[in-house]
Amino acid sequence: MSTTADVVVIGGGVNGTSAAFHLATLGVTNVILVERGQLAAGATGKSGALVRTHYTNVPESQLAFESLKVFQRFKEIVGYDAGFDGLGFIQVVGPGYGDALAANVAAQQALGINTRMVPLDELQELQPGIAIDDIGAAAFEPDSGYADPNATAYAFARAAEALGVQIWTHCAATAIVRDGGRVVAVETERGRIATENVVLAPGAYARQLLEPLGLDYGLYPQRSMVAIFRWPPGWERRHHVIIDNINHSWLRPEGSQATLIGVEQPIGDYDPDNYNQGVDGSFVDVARAALARRFPAFGDATMRGGWSGVYMMSPDGRPIIDQVPSVPGLFVMLGDSGTSFKTAPAIGKCLAEWVVLGEPQLLDLSPFRSTRFAEGKPWIDETAYSPKRQTISR
Ligand SMILES: Cc1cc2nc3c(=O)[nH]c(=O)nc-3n(C[C@H](O)[C@H](O)[C@H](O)COP(=O)(O)OP(=O)(O)OC[C@H]3O[C@@H](n4cnc5c(N)ncnc54)[C@H](O)[C@@H]3O)c2cc1C
Repeated sequence: MSTTADVVVIGGGVNGTSAAFHLATLGVTNVILVERGQLAAGATGKSGALVRTHYTNVPESQLAFESLKVFQRFKEIVGYDAGFDGLGFIQVVGPGYGDALAANVAAQQALGINTRMVPLDELQELQPGIAIDDIGAAAFEPDSGYADPNATAYAFARAAEALGVQIWTHCAATAIVRDGGRVVAVETERGRIATENVVLAPGAYARQLLEPLGLDYGLYPQRSMVAIFRWPPGWERRHHVIIDNINHSWLRPEGSQATLIGVEQPIGDYDPDNYNQGVDGSFVDVARAALARRFPAFGDATMRGGWSGVYMMSPDGRPIIDQVPSVPGLFVMLGDSGTSFKTAPAIGKCLAEWVVLGEPQLLDLSPFRSTRFAEGKPWIDETAYSPKRQTISR
C-alpha cells in the first residue's frame, strides 16, 4: 500500500491528538495519526490529569496558562467535553520556601494568571481539614482543577477526524525514513506513508524511533503510581486539588466520595510494554501516610484502588518540544516528564503552527529546545521548592 500525507503524527496520546486537531484547524487535513495501541494507551490514559498553572518557571506556566484557557472552553473550542473541573488548586511548600513561592506567584500574576498567596490562618478556612503545622507558605489558583485525560484525548481525536484526519490505531510506526537528512516517509505496520513532516509524540517509546536517527537525549521511562482512598466518615465536601511539596505528593477528588493521590517515586528505567500496571502493596501505606499528613482525617481511609502508568523523563525533568535541527521535517514532543497532560492543548497548537507556519505563534518554545543538553545548559529553576529532583509534585 502506498500512501501520502502532508503530516504523520506518531502517538495517540493527548499531545499527538492535540497536534492532529490543531493541524486540522489550521487547514492541514491530509494528516495520518498512527497509534501502536488504542487512543490514550500510554501515560495519558493513566494520568492524574491535574490542570494547574503553578510552576517554578515562567515558560511552563505560560504553556499551562494557555492550555487552561482551552480547558475552560473545551467544548466550545474542540466540540466535545474534556471533563474539566475548575474547583481550585492549592500549592503548599515547606518552611524556607515562602520567598520562592511568592516570587513564582508574582511572576504568574504578571502573566495574567489568577493566583495569590494565602496566609496560613486563611488556608484552613479555604480548605477545611487541612493540617498546616509543617507548611511554610501556600498559594491558591481558583480557576485550576483537573480533567478527564481519556476524554480529552478522545475529544481531540474525534474533532480531528471530523475535520478529515485519519487515525490508525493498532498501527505502530516502525521507522522514520530520511533522504539527504530530511524526513521523506514513515514506515508503519500498515506500510510506508510518504510525508515531509512528522510530529513525534511517542511518550515512553521514544527511544525506539530516535536511536536509528542518531538522536539520544538521555530519556528514560519512569513508572508512577496513584491510589484512591474513600473519604472517611464525616468528610462530605470535595476538597481542592493540592500539590504538597512537603510530602512530595499531589491529590484531587476522584468522583464524589474519594481522593486520588500520587506520591513521588524513586527514579527507575521501566519497560512500557512490561510493567505492573497495578499498585505495589507498599505504595498503599506510603500514599495513605502522605494523605494523612495533609488531611489527618484520612489516617484510616480505606484504599479503593489505583493504577500505575509510565511516562518519559528527560534528564532535566522538562519536556523537549522542538523541530529537531539535524532532521528537517521532524517535530517532537518528548520527555513529558510526568507533567505534560495539562499543557497538551498549547503544545499541540504550537507544534501545528510550527509545521504549517514555520514557527510557533502562540509562545516562544526555545526554552524547551532539544539542543539544551548538548549545549551544557539543562533546565534549572532558581525558585524550586526542593534541592531534590522532583517530577509530578514539583
Ligand atoms: C500516574 C500518572 C499521573 C500523572 N499526573 C499528571 C498530572 O496530574 N498532570 C499532568 O499534567 N500530567 C500528569 N501526568 C503526565 C501526563 O499524563 C503525560 O505527560 C502526558 O499524558 C503525555 O502525553 P503524550 O501524548 O506526550 O504521551 P503518551 O500519553 O504516553 O502517548 C504516547 C502514545 O504514543 C504511542 N506510541 C509510541 N510509540 C509509537 C509508535 N512507534 N507508533 C505508534 N504509536 C506509538 C503510545 O502507544 C502512546 O499511546 C501523569 C502521568 C502518570 C502516568
